[in-house]
Amino acid sequence: MNLILMGLPGAGKGTQAERIIDAYNIPHISTGDMFRAAMKNETALGLEAKSYMDNGDLVPDSVTNGIVKERLAEDDTAKGFLLDGFPRTIDQAQALEVMLADLGKKIDGIINIDVPTDILVDRLSGRFMCRNCGATYHKVFNPTKVEGTCDRCGAHEFYQREDDKPETVKNRLSVNVEQGAPILDFYTKKGLVHNIDGNRDILEVFKDVQSIIESL
Ligand SMILES: [Zn+2]
Repeated sequence: MNLILMGLPGAGKGTQAERIIDAYNIPHISTGDMFRAAMKNETALGLEAKSYMDNGDLVPDSVTNGIVKERLAEDDTAKGFLLDGFPRTIDQAQALEVMLADLGKKIDGIINIDVPTDILVDRLSGRFMCRNCGATYHKVFNPTKVEGTCDRCGAHEFYQREDDKPETVKNRLSVNVEQGAPILDFYTKKGLVHNIDGNRDILEVFKDVQSIIESL
């Protein structure tokens, strides 16, 4: 089955992706990995992408789409694939339909791991560090044993990286929501989107993922 995995940062997409590829023996195709592989193997498109990136320019869709198509044409996708991080725009979604049609394939379903943004802010903004020794903690998932005291060195001063601050996290999430909304809309109109409540235990979420995949 040919799937697209969607979800905001912190929604648990990576964990679910690992479980899906293990259970169904299909490749996880993420844009980041695809670009790295194309550049490492020095394919024509990989070199072209690299020349844009080296100049600090955005890689144009024609190049990105070409890299995706090459990857989707590989033998290991015969039984299906899990696409992650692509498409990011409607243009890319339309291009994906064309390239899949060329390959005699189609998308069977979009799995969207849905977690309310305020919960994602809590998940993503809780990280803090000891100013003295650099030990990393999380307010919810990995707090210090004694509040305000570093487990490792006993220091009392902590800090948060800019990226881990609630305001930064909120901004990052709202950019992602804005980018993702048209894509979800595009596939919802085609009846392909399956929303899963991601605000639960990993195993419970995966059970839902499985029953969706098995219904496709
Ligand atoms: Zn410390």
